[in-house]
Amino acid sequence: MECPETIFTKYASVLLDGIGIGKTLDYGIPAETEPLIRKGSQVKVLLKGQIRIGIVTQLKESADFSKVLPIHSVLSEGELLTEELFSLAHWIEKYYCTPQRHVIKIMLPSSIRHSMAHKEQYFISSLQTKNQLRRACAELQEKQAEQAAVLEVMLKTKRGILLTELLEKSGVSVSPVETLIKRGFLKKERMRIDRNPLEGEEYFKTVAKPLNDEQKQAYLKIIASLQEKRFETHLLYGITGSGKTEVYLQAIEKALEMGLGTIMLVPEISLTAQTIDRFRSRFDDKIAILHHRLSQGERCDEWHRIRRGDAQIVVGARSALFSPLPKLGLIIVDEEHDGAYKQSEEAPCYHARDLAVVRGKITHSTVILGSATPSLESYYNTLNGKYTLSKLSSRATQSNLPHVTIVDMKKEYEKAGGYTAFSAPLLEGIKKRFAQGEQTILFLNRRGYHTSLFCEGCGHIFKCPHCDLALTFHFGEKVLACHLCDFRLAPIPSQCPECKKPETLKYKGVGTEQIERALHAIFPDIRTIRMDGDTTRHKGSHEHLLKQFSTAKADVLIGTQMIAKGLHFPSVTLVAILNCDGSLQIPDFRASENIFQLITQVAGRAGRGELPGEVIIQTHLPDNQTIKLASAQNYEEFYKVEIASRKMFGFPPFSHLVKLTFVGKESEQTAQAGAVLRAFLAKKLDKSYLLHPLVPSGYPKIKDFYRFQLLIRGKIVYPIHAHLKEALAQNLLPKEVRMHIDVDPLSTFF
Ligand code: ADP
Ligand code: ZN
Repeated sequence: MECPETIFTKYASVLLDGIGIGKTLDYGIPAETEPLIRKGSQVKVLLKGQIRIGIVTQLKESADFSKVLPIHSVLSEGELLTEELFSLAHWIEKYYCTPQRHVIKIMLPSSIRHSMAHKEQYFISSLQTKNQLRRACAELQEKQAEQAAVLEVMLKTKRGILLTELLEKSGVSVSPVETLIKRGFLKKERMRIDRNPLEGEEYFKTVAKPLNDEQKQAYLKIIASLQEKRFETHLLYGITGSGKTEVYLQAIEKALEMGLGTIMLVPEISLTAQTIDRFRSRFDDKIAILHHRLSQGERCDEWHRIRRGDAQIVVGARSALFSPLPKLGLIIVDEEHDGAYKQSEEAPCYHARDLAVVRGKITHSTVILGSATPSLESYYNTLNGKYTLSKLSSRATQSNLPHVTIVDMKKEYEKAGGYTAFSAPLLEGIKKRFAQGEQTILFLNRRGYHTSLFCEGCGHIFKCPHCDLALTFHFGEKVLACHLCDFRLAPIPSQCPECKKPETLKYKGVGTEQIERALHAIFPDIRTIRMDGDTTRHKGSHEHLLKQFSTAKADVLIGTQMIAKGLHFPSVTLVAILNCDGSLQIPDFRASENIFQLITQVAGRAGRGELPGEVIIQTHLPDNQTIKLASAQNYEEFYKVEIASRKMFGFPPFSHLVKLTFVGKESEQTAQAGAVLRAFLAKKLDKSYLLHPLVPSGYPKIKDFYRFQLLIRGKIVYPIHAHLKEALAQNLLPKEVRMHIDVDPLSTFF
């Protein structure tokens, strides 16, 4: 269907959804549809005889080519992306050095991009066992890679998956799925999606609390900029329990009164029923909540509610920042220091906190960043006048800050005559809480039972065959598992495959699973709940375990990172950090900052109610300055020490970093590609830029792909991007090697 004769008066650049095409294509706008098409409209167009969906990114008077097809039809009422969001997208493209299509992809939920007009959806499930699928997948790998990709995704699902999600995850079109259905591997059925994520849940209405003096001062500064509709970023720095959330709630109320919308970001892990209820109890159905457990249909409906202005308050994890509120006035980022705001795996590697400030500027909104342990960057920005600082220095309720003890584990080992997971003071503490019916939280950032299996004879370590990482022993499942790719080895070898000597295999390292068993060995009647990546795999299990603990179904909660944040359990009076020494030894300029934040967050879980709290930190480094300052909850002193060292070494916030990761199947070729890129940049960039050496990444191999990284440091990132684009245009990178660009990376090690 070509119509080269037709001359249009208006043309549109259309960004097609789906795979393959990197650029926008031009289409003519037929006169009758002209009034309907705007920048940001969703349209149907023809490409190679097939109907495709796309978004209009530009309207123009002439086309880049002489022969263009007309736009087939218009899908959306109004635009999917407003001018304001286009500006944000443009900023992201430039700053994070990412093509527009990747940026648009993260800004719109896939259900919207694929135009899920109907509530009906297809659900795909398997008709064969996992083993059969696995075999088929291996066989198809060579000749039918698309079908294999579909099966790979199916293998990761429990009962099945929505068709749209399957397509998104496997990156294929419908046809390989249809083939697999015809061949009897998969089944397709229509299903209705349950749409309202909050339906049926009950909550109590709460009202604003009278603010204390410090809260009031912070509040007044915030609403001053809000009322003037003036862009200003506020850093609300207050210890846990100091009443930051109450300030947010009242600021949101003010915005509502003014007819302005709010985006409230929280780290995904803190999007618990507890948090959600707190917001809902103040604002009822004016709230939309976006989290990863929503089905695509639910996400689609919430998005439309927000766009229509029916939900003026959006609470969600990092991608909620892109919500299409028609009249945005306030953006809040709670726990602004949290690493969960950074997208690291996929381009664009954006930081939602930084983008909150950018969007605030574009929309003349007030931005609030809140934290008990602000990132060094944000605190630095209050001192140089970019942000306005408000401090909350005491807990809002009667509860006091917990008492912290640092326990020297070297001495404990001496006393115990060998290794022990629990120091004497900790055992004493747990026993006392148990007897009094109070609760304890034990924190350890390692899941599994033992963290490695090795041979005492020859030093051989059992590593994942696909990743360069030691396998972790899981007692419950009796397997050795890789924590990067989920490779599993069972039964567990009884002999070293290298030296083959008898009885030389030894386990090393302690994980949460072992802690739980060890605790039961000491206190047979104690009730425990373990929360880690293993126990929270299934949908809803996270919530369920938290509920169990908060309703006193257990005496001790044992867990990893996921229990460190935002939880509020009034009857927890003892919190222990079993071992955090490993994290301090990671060679990264943010290691101290991360540990300081972690200890402060974990300690903040103790003594949240009427009862006084106690915190025990077990370590081999009792004199470590970071541990000491964290246990004294002395952020300001920590900031002084840390910022001085950043300044001395020229690390952020005194510079920006760009991390390039080169990923490829062949180790040598990948390293070579990195070296070529490095040499190119070294020639092009001026002397103010520092190029670190090309080194293997902290995880040098993941899923059979080798990884090398190159760090570049400088005051401005744009010249780096310009030269990178130049290098790519000159085809300096072989097609077998991928380059991943991370601007302002969180980790310089992994
Ligand atoms: P944060 O967000 O800083 O951790 P919260 O806002 O959750 O602190 O406050 C901690 C506790 O103190 C909550 O139970 C909250 O209801 C209560 N609270 C906060 N502000 C006040 C206030 N002005 N008067 C009384 N109670 C308050
Ligand atoms: Zn692996």
